[in-house]
Amino acid sequence: MSTARSLYSMKVEKIIDYTHNIRELILRTEMPAEFSFKAGQFVMLHVPVSGSKPALRAYSIASSEKIKDSIRLIFKFVESGVASTYVWSLKGGEVLNFTGPFGKVFFQEPPTEQVVFLNTGSGVSQHLCYLLSKKDQYPNVMFRMLFGVRTERDIFLKEELDIIQNEFKNFKYEFVLSLPSESWSGKKGYVQHFIKDFDYLKIPTTFYLCGNGGMIKEVKHQLLELDGLDKSRLWTESFD
Ligand SMILES: Cc1cc2nc3c(=O)[nH]c(=O)nc-3n(C[C@H](O)[C@H](O)[C@H](O)COP(=O)(O)OP(=O)(O)OC[C@H]3O[C@@H](n4cnc5c(N)ncnc54)[C@H](O)[C@@H]3O)c2cc1C
Repeated sequence: MSTARSLYSMKVEKIIDYTHNIRELILRTEMPAEFSFKAGQFVMLHVPVSGSKPALRAYSIASSEKIKDSIRLIFKFVESGVASTYVWSLKGGEVLNFTGPFGKVFFQEPPTEQVVFLNTGSGVSQHLCYLLSKKDQYPNVMFRMLFGVRTERDIFLKEELDIIQNEFKNFKYEFVLSLPSESWSGKKGYVQHFIKDFDYLKIPTTFYLCGNGGMIKEVKHQLLELDGLDKSRLWTESFD
């Protein structure tokens, strides 16, 4: 395992624009040739700033911990954001600098009977990483995911999640749209409105929350303060 201070350079191998404001970078390791991390961790992107030190921004790794020669990162565009402007200026082939891996929000093992991922927007990164890293090791665990976005045009990763859902019988996921069109027949509202569906007071369950801080605060309040769930059953990563 690399130390937190390690500096990595990685080449932009592929850019995928999923939506108007979600972009994935697939980065190939250059120096050193291997990057090892534990599922749930993040890297610090060093954003070049002219005449000044680089600006550092955290990004959760979306790919499997088993892959050592590349990583996937998923970015949400923030208006006038330093890193966002930089990432959206990339064309492919550039070499980016990172430090890491950082973070201690690990997948808890052995897992409980049910594992619930609640995320918003690019917060899906951390949960995709857990899923890709751990699903084959724990085929009997019920993996569940609610993925919150605003509208139909904000939906991304559907194709990949559908493939995982079809191939792996114990993974089920749904999008939750906060501002859907009238024709949307799926879940409407915020991911936190649907947690009771998981019957977590009867089924041993671990929750992982990632993304919007408001969502995390609300779910924490419900699970820990109102329902009295043990805090070892709740793992969170806030992006704001
Ligand atoms: C542990 C960790 C992991 C993270 N992983 C990811 C990830 O995988 N993908 C990802 O997209 N982001 C992730 N983030 C957020 C990321 O680090 C940056 O904060 C984000 O990309 C904005 O950076 P920026 O330089 O573009 O904007 P900045 O220049 O930092 O901010 C510009 C302006 O936008 C506001 N702002 C900052 N962030 C947001 C936001 N998320 N929504 C709305 N307004 C905002 C700021 O208050 C500021 O006014 C993570 C954060 C943490 C702490």
